[in-house]
Amino acid sequence: YTGKSIENALGDILKQNKVSDIKGLPVAVSEETSVYDAIVTLFLEDVGTIFVVDENNYLKGVASRKDFLKITLGDNDLGKMPVGIVMTRWPNIVTLRDEDTALSAAKKVEEFQVDCIPVISDDNVEEQAELTGRVSKTHLVKLLAEIDEQR
Ligand code: ADP
Repeated sequence: YTGKSIENALGDILKQNKVSDIKGLPVAVSEETSVYDAIVTLFLEDVGTIFVVDENNYLKGVASRKDFLKITLGDNDLGKMPVGIVMTRWPNIVTLRDEDTALSAAKKVEEFQVDCIPVISDDNVEEQAELTGRVSKTHLVKLLAEIDEQR
């Protein structure tokens, strides 16, 4: 590919693919989970971002590597501290829905400077929407790397 044709192909790919086409399975814990156990989950599941849900699987928060690093700088008992203390909560969570395009996902990653965005169900009230997936920077790069297969 050269110049304009790459540009067109990338634009098409980002507009034609929906979040539902590219999303992965979310890794989630409950708000009472200790920071220690959440960090262990981060390693075991090989992710950089963990989501926090309630008993209805409604999204409550997002905790990333930096959140965990910050809390480990202090003199804290990580085994006793709940992940709810370090997570980012509503109304500050950036989310996506299945019907959003990969382009809007890329724009949100850029605008809000986040690595990973939770995908939630189509309910009207965000605070009462179920967590259904995740879109990370890696999912978006993977989509672009498949440019040859998509044409
Ligand atoms: P890392 O900490 O691994 O660099 P991020 O850059 O994604 O990951 O996270 C930076 C900050 O943004 C953290 O405080 C985290 O809680 C928050 N954050 C991460 N993802 C989201 C999101 N989808 N919506 C809102 N805040 C988020």
